[in-house]
Amino acid sequence: MEVFNRARVQQNVNVQRFPFKVVWGVDIPSKVQFFVWTLVHGRVLTADNLCRKGTVVNPVCRLCESLNESIVHVFLHCSVSLSVWNAMTDPLPAVFLALFTVSLIEEWLLQWPVVTNHEWGSLVWKYLSYATLWTLWKTRNNKTFRNTEIGVERICREIKFTIWYWCSSWKQRKKYKYQDLEDNWSGVIRG
Ligand SMILES: [Zn+2]
Repeated sequence: MEVFNRARVQQNVNVQRFPFKVVWGVDIPSKVQFFVWTLVHGRVLTADNLCRKGTVVNPVCRLCESLNESIVHVFLHCSVSLSVWNAMTDPLPAVFLALFTVSLIEEWLLQWPVVTNHEWGSLVWKYLSYATLWTLWKTRNNKTFRNTEIGVERICREIKFTIWYWCSSWKQRKKYKYQDLEDNWSGVIRG
Protein backbone atom coordinates (compact mmCIF):
# COMPACT_ATOMS: atom_id res chain seq x y z
CA MET A 1 0.00 0.00 0.00
CA GLU A 2 2.83 2.35 0.87
CA VAL A 3 4.41 1.74 -2.51
CA PHE A 4 1.06 2.40 -4.16
CA ASN A 5 0.62 5.66 -2.22
CA ARG A 6 4.13 6.76 -3.07
CA ALA A 7 3.38 6.07 -6.75
CA ARG A 8 0.15 8.10 -6.50
CA VAL A 9 1.99 11.01 -4.87
CA GLN A 10 4.65 10.88 -7.56
CA GLN A 11 1.96 10.83 -10.26
CA ASN A 12 0.18 13.81 -8.68
CA VAL A 13 3.43 15.77 -8.54
CA ASN A 14 4.03 15.04 -12.21
CA VAL A 15 0.48 16.03 -13.16
CA GLN A 16 0.76 19.27 -11.18
CA ARG A 17 3.92 20.14 -13.05
CA PHE A 18 2.35 19.23 -16.36
CA PRO A 19 1.95 22.43 -18.41
CA PHE A 20 -1.63 23.21 -19.39
CA LYS A 21 -0.54 24.42 -22.80
CA VAL A 22 0.59 20.93 -23.84
CA VAL A 23 -3.10 20.00 -23.91
CA TRP A 24 -5.16 23.19 -23.99
CA GLY A 25 -2.71 25.18 -26.12
CA VAL A 26 -2.77 22.76 -29.04
CA ASP A 27 -5.30 23.49 -31.80
CA ILE A 28 -6.91 20.06 -31.82
CA PRO A 29 -10.68 19.46 -31.38
CA SER A 30 -11.86 20.28 -27.86
CA LYS A 31 -13.20 16.75 -27.32
CA VAL A 32 -9.67 15.43 -27.97
CA GLN A 33 -8.15 18.04 -25.63
CA PHE A 34 -10.56 16.89 -22.94
CA PHE A 35 -9.74 13.24 -23.64
CA VAL A 36 -5.96 13.88 -23.36
CA TRP A 37 -6.51 15.84 -20.16
CA THR A 38 -8.41 12.94 -18.55
CA LEU A 39 -5.73 10.61 -19.86
CA VAL A 40 -2.96 12.62 -18.20
CA HIS A 41 -4.93 12.57 -14.96
CA GLY A 42 -5.38 8.80 -15.15
CA ARG A 43 -9.17 9.01 -15.43
CA VAL A 44 -9.85 7.40 -18.79
CA LEU A 45 -12.00 4.33 -18.14
CA THR A 46 -9.66 1.49 -18.95
CA ALA A 47 -10.42 -1.92 -17.38
CA ASP A 48 -8.21 -1.34 -14.32
CA ASN A 49 -9.95 1.97 -13.56
CA LEU A 50 -13.38 0.38 -14.01
CA CYS A 51 -12.40 -2.45 -11.63
CA ARG A 52 -11.29 0.12 -9.04
CA LYS A 53 -14.75 1.68 -9.31
CA GLY A 54 -16.29 -1.72 -8.60
CA THR A 55 -17.44 -2.49 -12.14
CA VAL A 56 -17.01 -6.12 -13.19
CA VAL A 57 -15.23 -6.14 -16.55
CA ASN A 58 -12.84 -8.33 -18.48
CA PRO A 59 -9.41 -6.99 -17.36
CA VAL A 60 -7.60 -8.08 -20.53
CA CYS A 61 -6.43 -5.51 -23.08
CA ARG A 62 -8.68 -5.46 -26.18
CA LEU A 63 -5.81 -4.60 -28.50
CA CYS A 64 -3.37 -7.43 -27.74
CA GLU A 65 -5.70 -9.72 -25.80
CA SER A 66 -2.83 -10.94 -23.65
CA LEU A 67 -1.95 -8.47 -20.85
CA ASN A 68 -4.16 -6.57 -18.46
CA GLU A 69 -5.50 -3.23 -19.61
CA SER A 70 -4.26 -0.01 -18.00
CA ILE A 71 -3.72 3.47 -19.39
CA VAL A 72 0.04 3.06 -19.70
CA HIS A 73 -0.39 -0.34 -21.33
CA VAL A 74 -3.01 0.65 -23.91
CA PHE A 75 -1.45 3.94 -24.95
CA LEU A 76 2.27 3.28 -24.63
CA HIS A 77 3.46 -0.28 -24.18
CA CYS A 78 0.85 -2.69 -25.61
CA SER A 79 2.40 -4.72 -28.45
CA VAL A 80 -0.17 -3.29 -30.89
CA SER A 81 0.45 0.29 -29.70
CA LEU A 82 4.21 -0.20 -29.92
CA SER A 83 3.85 -1.33 -33.54
CA VAL A 84 1.74 1.75 -34.29
CA TRP A 85 4.17 4.17 -32.59
CA ASN A 86 7.06 2.45 -34.35
CA ALA A 87 5.44 2.89 -37.77
CA MET A 88 4.35 6.47 -37.16
CA THR A 89 7.71 7.65 -35.76
CA ASP A 90 9.67 5.80 -38.43
CA PRO A 91 11.05 9.08 -39.89
CA LEU A 92 12.65 9.86 -36.49
CA PRO A 93 13.68 6.50 -34.94
CA ALA A 94 15.11 8.05 -31.75
CA VAL A 95 11.59 9.07 -30.77
CA PHE A 96 10.42 5.46 -30.77
CA LEU A 97 13.38 4.42 -28.60
CA ALA A 98 12.39 7.12 -26.09
CA LEU A 99 9.04 5.38 -25.67
CA PHE A 100 10.82 2.68 -23.64
CA THR A 101 12.10 5.26 -21.16
CA VAL A 102 8.73 6.77 -20.22
CA SER A 103 6.10 5.36 -17.89
CA LEU A 104 3.49 8.13 -17.92
CA ILE A 105 1.46 9.72 -20.72
CA GLU A 106 2.55 13.21 -19.62
CA GLU A 107 6.21 12.22 -19.87
CA TRP A 108 5.59 11.00 -23.41
CA LEU A 109 3.87 14.23 -24.46
CA LEU A 110 6.46 16.44 -22.77
CA GLN A 111 9.42 14.76 -24.44
CA TRP A 112 7.78 14.77 -27.91
CA PRO A 113 10.29 16.75 -30.00
CA VAL A 114 9.42 19.78 -32.08
CA VAL A 115 10.11 19.41 -35.80
CA THR A 116 10.79 22.67 -37.59
CA ASN A 117 11.90 21.53 -41.03
CA HIS A 118 8.99 23.12 -42.83
CA GLU A 119 5.44 24.15 -41.96
CA TRP A 120 3.57 21.11 -43.39
CA GLY A 121 5.79 18.50 -41.76
CA SER A 122 5.92 20.48 -38.51
CA LEU A 123 2.15 20.63 -38.29
CA VAL A 124 1.69 16.94 -39.11
CA TRP A 125 4.32 15.99 -36.55
CA LYS A 126 2.81 18.28 -33.88
CA TYR A 127 -0.57 16.55 -34.28
CA LEU A 128 0.86 13.04 -34.47
CA SER A 129 1.13 12.20 -30.75
CA TYR A 130 -2.42 13.41 -30.04
CA ALA A 131 -3.91 11.75 -33.13
CA THR A 132 -2.25 8.45 -32.17
CA LEU A 133 -3.53 8.51 -28.58
CA TRP A 134 -7.02 9.42 -29.84
CA THR A 135 -7.05 6.72 -32.53
CA LEU A 136 -5.77 4.01 -30.18
CA TRP A 137 -8.63 4.79 -27.81
CA LYS A 138 -11.22 4.78 -30.61
CA THR A 139 -9.81 1.48 -31.87
CA ARG A 140 -9.95 -0.04 -28.39
CA ASN A 141 -13.57 1.11 -28.01
CA ASN A 142 -14.57 -0.20 -31.44
CA LYS A 143 -13.08 -3.56 -30.53
CA THR A 144 -14.79 -3.55 -27.13
CA PHE A 145 -18.26 -2.51 -28.28
CA ARG A 146 -18.41 -3.59 -31.95
CA ASN A 147 -15.78 -6.34 -32.04
CA THR A 148 -14.06 -4.74 -35.05
CA GLU A 149 -10.77 -6.16 -36.31
CA ILE A 150 -7.49 -4.76 -35.00
CA GLY A 151 -4.91 -3.99 -37.69
CA VAL A 152 -1.78 -1.87 -37.31
CA GLU A 153 -1.92 -0.65 -40.92
CA ARG A 154 -5.54 0.32 -40.55
CA ILE A 155 -4.82 2.23 -37.30
CA CYS A 156 -1.92 4.07 -38.98
CA ARG A 157 -4.15 5.05 -41.92
CA GLU A 158 -6.77 6.38 -39.54
CA ILE A 159 -4.15 8.41 -37.67
CA LYS A 160 -3.03 10.00 -40.95
CA PHE A 161 -6.60 10.72 -41.94
CA THR A 162 -7.27 12.28 -38.52
CA ILE A 163 -4.22 14.52 -38.90
CA TRP A 164 -5.35 15.53 -42.40
CA TYR A 165 -8.79 16.40 -41.03
CA TRP A 166 -7.31 18.43 -38.16
CA CYS A 167 -5.26 20.39 -40.72
CA SER A 168 -8.44 21.44 -42.55
CA SER A 169 -8.55 24.88 -40.93
CA TRP A 170 -4.98 25.57 -42.05
CA LYS A 171 -5.14 27.67 -45.24
CA GLN A 172 -1.99 26.21 -46.76
CA ARG A 173 -3.43 22.68 -46.74
CA LYS A 174 -4.69 23.17 -50.28
CA LYS A 175 -1.06 23.01 -51.45
CA TYR A 176 -0.87 19.40 -50.23
CA LYS A 177 -2.69 16.10 -50.77
CA TYR A 178 -3.86 13.50 -48.30
CA GLN A 179 -2.16 10.92 -50.48
CA ASP A 180 1.20 12.50 -49.59
CA LEU A 181 0.69 11.18 -46.06
CA GLU A 182 0.04 7.68 -47.40
CA ASP A 183 2.76 7.57 -50.05
CA ASN A 184 5.55 9.67 -48.57
CA TRP A 185 5.16 9.76 -44.78
CA SER A 186 8.90 10.06 -44.07
CA GLY A 187 9.28 12.76 -46.71
CA VAL A 188 6.45 14.80 -45.23
CA ILE A 189 7.93 14.65 -41.72
CA ARG A 190 11.56 15.15 -42.70
CA GLY A 191 10.75 17.91 -45.18
ZN1 LIG B 1 -2.44 -4.78 -25.03
